[in-house]
Amino acid sequence: AKAWHLTRRPSALPTMEHFALRDLPDDPLQENQLRVRNLWLSVDPYMRGRMNDAKSYTASFQIDQPMTGGAIGEVVESRMEGFAPGDLILHMGGWRDGGVIGLDMAPFKLPAEALAAGMAPQTFLHNMGLTGGTAWIGLLRVAAAKAGDTVFVSAAAGAVGSAVVQIAKAREMTVIGAAGGAEKCAWVRELGADAAVDYKAGPVLDGLSDALRTLGKPGIDVYFDNVGGDHLDAAFATANDFARFAICGMIDVYNDGHPQEMKYLIRAIPARIRMEGFIYTDQFFDCMEEFYADMGNLIASGAVTMRETVRDGIESAPEAFLGLFAGANIGKMLVRL
Ligand code: NDP
Repeated sequence: AKAWHLTRRPSALPTMEHFALRDLPDDPLQENQLRVRNLWLSVDPYMRGRMNDAKSYTASFQIDQPMTGGAIGEVVESRMEGFAPGDLILHMGGWRDGGVIGLDMAPFKLPAEALAAGMAPQTFLHNMGLTGGTAWIGLLRVAAAKAGDTVFVSAAAGAVGSAVVQIAKAREMTVIGAAGGAEKCAWVRELGADAAVDYKAGPVLDGLSDALRTLGKPGIDVYFDNVGGDHLDAAFATANDFARFAICGMIDVYNDGHPQEMKYLIRAIPARIRMEGFIYTDQFFDCMEEFYADMGNLIASGAVTMRETVRDGIESAPEAFLGLFAGANIGKMLVRL
């Protein structure tokens, strides 16, 4: 098996120079290990943070060690109780085409009922997994969004954002999504958003203000932040009283950490804005059953769908990852092996 290794730490946007695809040793299987053949790999913006040597909520990647990340694999050989050859699993031994994984890679057998009902296995890397769970937790638990609210979501044509749009529409909210470019904005509207703001066509605050005016809404009740920067500032500028901000991600600054200018932050006071950062894994296990049931129904009814942007082959993983920072994906970026 082969795995991508981080060869040095990037200080800005990484390049291919920071990664190397290397062979893994073909070790015999020990107790509590599985040999897997990976089918799908997830690339996610949070992995950029893991490339820094800084304390955060996930451990840093180590130099010249195989990287890890979400993956769907098929068990080839098992010395772990509860797993048999042929099982499809979600696990953290990504960035590689397969090999030996242990309990530290958190293997989770995909539910047989979901697969029998025709759910594609890679759904557990998006709507039934990290990105759908983040959308559901952030919108419904962190922001406590409810029917009638006006919700603004940034990176709305991405994996998390597109799930936020659809969950919010299923719950009878008014939704304004921001995304880069006309094609993405058209898709955001197709998902049911009441308006889409193309932040590459003009200042996001102008677009958001126009959308609110057209919809006859005074401001936003909820902001789901995936971007930070000017998108967050536009949310401060347009927040209704007692607005809730779920701070999920700030992809605008992951590569260079440039200062973010907040001209409208002061509105947090008169508008009594409640703002909360959250991490998916902190909350997921508390609400896992409710999430799987609710999201499973939303998917089965067609209320929540996903578009996948797929790159093929283990060789394509770094390029797929780097594409996230250039907006190369519509919906979830995946690597198919
Ligand atoms: P996406 O599928 O949304 O991909 C990233 C998208 O971000 C791109 O397609 C691009 O869309 C947009 N983007 C990139 N750079 C910029 C920029 N400078 N300004 C504005 N938009 C930009 O990724 P995910 O759905 O996986 O993640 C979305 C966010 O959620 C990220 O910030 C991520 O870190 C966060 N996250 C947080 C979690 C948590 O537990 N808190 C868990 C999972 C994700 P466009 O073409 O529209 O610019």
